[in-house]
Formats: sequence, structure tokens, C-alpha cells
Amino acid sequence: MMKIAIDGPAGAGKSTVAKTLSQLMSYIYIDTGAMYRSLTWKALQTGTNLDDEKALYELATNTNIHFQKDNSQQKVFCDSFDVSEEIRSPQVSSYVSKLASYPSIRQLMVQRQQEMACNHSVVMDGRDIGECVLPDADFKFFLTASIAERARRRLAEMKSQGYEQQLEAIRDEIIKRDEDDARREVGALKVLPDSIVIDTSNMTIEQVVEKILAIIRE
Ligand code: C5P
Repeated sequence: MMKIAIDGPAGAGKSTVAKTLSQLMSYIYIDTGAMYRSLTWKALQTGTNLDDEKALYELATNTNIHFQKDNSQQKVFCDSFDVSEEIRSPQVSSYVSKLASYPSIRQLMVQRQQEMACNHSVVMDGRDIGECVLPDADFKFFLTASIAERARRRLAEMKSQGYEQQLEAIRDEIIKRDEDDARREVGALKVLPDSIVIDTSNMTIEQVVEKILAIIRE
């Protein structure tokens, strides 16, 4: 059973790389960011106070988040709703780090992610995969890129999903989210001693995937 962890800041290309790798290797792909986003979406939908950790934990224990393959696409379901598109909204992006900062929520999410990965070969991407979710992963990659490049990629992604945003606003949003993600007490975004760091600033997705495959096959 092969476990591949991919961590890194927003817009570093983690999810596209992880998805491509999982398809090439016939492994399952778990987008852990989509899980935190789905819970944020539900909290906003239900008017749950985002300052109330206890209420959010209660909400999380009553929420089913799962992935479903639809042709080559992977859809995210929150309870029975397909939230694959809604969870990428600027509103969800601006609140998700707050919800992800609560230790009780993280503990629950980590446990669910570990259950999903159990008995499977898996590619999992997020912020704390190498440290908390799959500490015994066969490979721990940390993808990063310059802030200018990450903002540019995120802008293109948002445009393709029909959101009109300014580059400046996206840049500010990811800088803030990275700071929040790096600052929290548990599951903080960081390079681990056993992380293999890849700066993707001047690389295409194909080149990053090739590089990772070469390292795995070494
Ligand atoms: O990967 P993505 O940008 O969709 O993640 C959204 C947010 O979810 C991150 O900014 C972070 O706050 C949170 N997250 C996390 N731990 C993970 C994955 C995502 O805290 N493993």
C-alpha cells in the first residue's frame, strides 16, 4: 500500500498534480482542502457561528463529506449535495482557514482522512498530511511557488469557474490564508525534515508530475 503526501501553500499546484498522479498510478485521490471547504460551506449555509468551535464541531460530527468519481472528474459531496463548485467560492476561501484553525475540527478531519486512506494506495494533498494524517507516508512532497505565480494560477482557476476577481485581491487572500495556515497550533503548514521540496514556479504540471514519478521510481 503506497501513501503519497503532498503539502504546500495555496496555489502551488498541489491538487492538479495530486489528481494527475493518482490517475496515472490508479491510486485514490483525497483532496483534504475540499473537506475543510465543504464544512465551511455548510457552516455558512446553516448560519453556524464561525467563532463557536463547539457548534462547529457539533456540525462536523453531523456532516458526511465524501468523494465520488464522475467520469474523469472527482466530485465532492456534503451530505447529499454536490458542492464541488460552491466550495471554491471567494466567500468559502475567505473563511476556511478560521474553521481549520480549531483543534477539535482538525482532529475529527484527520481521523476521517486516515479512515479514507486505510487499505488503499493513496495520493493525499493538504497542509498537514505529512505531519498528522500520513506521518508514515512513503513520500512526503512539499510543493511551493512564488507568490506572483501562485496568484496568477489561482486567478486562472477562478476565471475558469466563472468568478471575476482581481489579481491583487487573490494575492492578498492567499497571503493571508498562508499566514493563518502557518500560524495555527496544530497541523500548521510547514516543511518537514523529511519533505521533498519542489519549487514549481517555472514548471508545468507535466514537469512536476514527471519529477515526482522519477523520485518515486528511483
Ligand atoms: O487546499 P485548499 O486551498 O483547498 O485548502 C483550503 C483551506 O483548508 C486551507 O487554506 C487550510 O486552511 C485548510 N486545510 C487545512 N488542512 C488541510 C487541507 C486544507 O487546514 N490538510
